[in-house]
Amino acid sequence: MILFKKAIDLRKHLDVQRKSGKKIGFVPTMGALHEGHLSLIQASKSATTLTVCSIFVNPTQFNDPADFEKYPLSTDKDIALLLSAGCDLLFLPDVDEMYPDGLTSNQKFDLGEMETLLEGKFRPGHFQGVCQVVNQLLLQVEPDALFMGQKDYQQCMVINRLLQQTGNCEKIQLHICPTLREPDGLAMSSRNRRLNEADRVISVTIYRTLSFLKENLKAGKLDVIQKSAFDQLQAAGFRTDYIVIADATTLQPVTYWDGKQQLVALVAAFLGEVRLIDNLPLN
Ligand code: AMP
Repeated sequence: MILFKKAIDLRKHLDVQRKSGKKIGFVPTMGALHEGHLSLIQASKSATTLTVCSIFVNPTQFNDPADFEKYPLSTDKDIALLLSAGCDLLFLPDVDEMYPDGLTSNQKFDLGEMETLLEGKFRPGHFQGVCQVVNQLLLQVEPDALFMGQKDYQQCMVINRLLQQTGNCEKIQLHICPTLREPDGLAMSSRNRRLNEADRVISVTIYRTLSFLKENLKAGKLDVIQKSAFDQLQAAGFRTDYIVIADATTLQPVTYWDGKQQLVALVAAFLGEVRLIDNLPLN
């Protein structure tokens, strides 16, 4: 695996590879890698001929400075994991490399309702930051395919919009990969490392609650099961930002189900200071 810290060196190398016919797959991450991330590397390796991973903890997507400060870092371990996964190239830029003109940007992405719904509502500015960094990374890597996890359901929709807006839809194929879970159902996440032992036990309630919604879904009013799901989380000790049943393509909340509409349940909740998100397609 080759490691690049400078975009100019990365671009030069990738230009040569592209000319020699390599198809480039790209997996952007914020590090603290786990099997979920490695599953994206595997997906890229099966669909392309050169896999690039980036590790960059992007300051502009953190609406809470404390969350940014506490974001786990484990670069040496990450490099070892990427090597064993057979990743070809790691891009490891620093903040100056990614934001040479400073962190504030005049560029505004039109994210429509994604900006005010769910994560957009509870993390103001988050998706603008995500688009800022992903847009910059796509200019640097110019991949043929982009691999992202369904774990971040709304983020996948936002990136799809970004690709449309930047005219990259045809050029870059977006692959949305399934969520990898721990044996008890907890979605793998870098933030899980911050859970203490007791909270790690409680954290499984998120998946149980999503499964409860899936098992109890019936055509008609959905308010009773949604209220019960919220109560289950609160009773377990979560501070819940939201747990909702939503339309799978618009993310608009659904309170009455006609038995046909495609639905997804999405949740964001705090255990102590750790904010966890997850989702489950319901039908
Ligand atoms: P992050 O480092 O958390 O920004 O995540 C980098 C990429 O890995 C994103 O596309 C995530 O959706 C994806 N990812 C994170 N957790 C998982 C998981 N448990 N299963 C599959 N993909 C994941």
